[in-house]
Amino acid sequence: GLTLFDPARRNSRGYDLGEPGVPEALTAAIAKARQSNHIAAPIVGGVTQGGAAEPVRNPATGAVVGQVIEADRATVDAAVAAARKAQDDWSLAGGSFRADRLERAADLLEERDALFLGLAIDEAGKTLVDAVAEVREAVDFLRYYAAQARADFTYPVVLPGPTGERNELILEGKGVFVAISPWNFPLAIFLGQVSAALAAGNSVLAKPAEQTPLIAHAAVELLLEAGVPGDVLHYLPGRGETVGAALTGHDDIIGVAFTGSTEVARMINRSLAGRDGPIATLIAETGGANAMIVDSTALPEQVARDAVASAFQSAGQRCSALRLLCVQEDVADTMIAMVAGAMAELNVGDPAILSTDVGPIIDAEAQANIAAYVAEARAAGRVIAEAARTNLPADGHFVPPVLIRLDHVTDLKREIFGPVLHVATWKGGELDQLIDAINASGYGLTLGVHTRIDGVAAHIAARAQVGNVYVNRNQIGAIVGSQPFGGRGLSGTGPKAGGPHYLHRFAEEKSISTDI
Ligand code: GLU
Repeated sequence: GLTLFDPARRNSRGYDLGEPGVPEALTAAIAKARQSNHIAAPIVGGVTQGGAAEPVRNPATGAVVGQVIEADRATVDAAVAAARKAQDDWSLAGGSFRADRLERAADLLEERDALFLGLAIDEAGKTLVDAVAEVREAVDFLRYYAAQARADFTYPVVLPGPTGERNELILEGKGVFVAISPWNFPLAIFLGQVSAALAAGNSVLAKPAEQTPLIAHAAVELLLEAGVPGDVLHYLPGRGETVGAALTGHDDIIGVAFTGSTEVARMINRSLAGRDGPIATLIAETGGANAMIVDSTALPEQVARDAVASAFQSAGQRCSALRLLCVQEDVADTMIAMVAGAMAELNVGDPAILSTDVGPIIDAEAQANIAAYVAEARAAGRVIAEAARTNLPADGHFVPPVLIRLDHVTDLKREIFGPVLHVATWKGGELDQLIDAINASGYGLTLGVHTRIDGVAAHIAARAQVGNVYVNRNQIGAIVGSQPFGGRGLSGTGPKAGGPHYLHRFAEEKSISTDI
């Protein structure tokens, strides 16, 4: 059954950036908390490891933000061995014991949010709006999984049986879990995966995305300070081909929580399957080819606002982001003109500047790939609107938001992970064909719907093969505990992060029957 959480559980308050003075006060606090020489070195058994350091750069300016030291093979092996030894005690300590530590970490994160906001901006290229949401979501994950650990991992569930027999079901940690997290939510998803695995009683090997090791390093230090034992949580920065491969190919791990591309999820799956160790759990959250269906009854202003936010906030670097706007033919000209108008208002640039709406692409390689795709569309005469390119820092990686017209909804073949929105039209009376075409992409993450007819919204929501449906609003920024997030098919394995079933996937069940 579903967990009955403490009804007093609340998400973090975050900040109201619309309140006068708040953004300026935060900017000042961030400047004060900014560290000049942050080194993200591996942490194994609570001990910082050495090695050759490489610079970590700000994607908006090219400035050096800190240094990273990649974990080597021996470090990975030492971490796995220590994690394996420590896991039993951590699991036996119980859900309340673990929850205390995760909640302490949430409190510390709120107290020191300026440091984390600054790293989200400087290392990941987040705008202040996105950085605030990022820290808030991280705090929410910590508290949500802590609450669930307390509720489900502290006492056994008593099950029925004949007189003279006691039947109990308990949940335990599985073993050593690997968390491989993405750069687009370098704190929230990193801490979400790590805290879920910890809450369920696993020890954890945390490998952050190679682009964003610093904020993850600060998060691990915080968890250790909050009382998570050093042998239970290890920090192993590095590249996927080296550290990631060493971890997912290791015989002694029992599961992987991964967020990233569908292609890498497949590689991890193969790696896990090829080992001699136990049959491992893979929890993968991958890409999307997310559509928004707009019918002729929708409110144009609302569609423009929600489509632009869904496609271009975070420079489109969200799995949930809108990629394909499907507009009913009769209203297409109006809708497209309004979307183009809203795009013209967007400020692209350095997220350290408060007026910036759209920040950088994460690195040069991603920028080049997206730019090549846009160039191809432009050559084909398909680019119909584009945000202005003004005052962009010379050494940053930028792609201004762009709108590309497609002849058919089925013409979008893959996920373009950036600020690229496609638009196609559909004919009234062909709604079911449209839904079938969207489902046929094989992805199944988010779907936006704009209509003023409740029956249409309900019909689409029932037939869409996706994880998250959003009606008459934007389709990004799932809230922990309210909008459990995650997809199906090419978009991931489930279960949904920030939802009532997530933690159980990190756990083993044990049934104990006693004759009394
Ligand atoms: N949870 C995020 C959202 O709802 C997306 C996560 C991702 O991009 O992996 O926008």
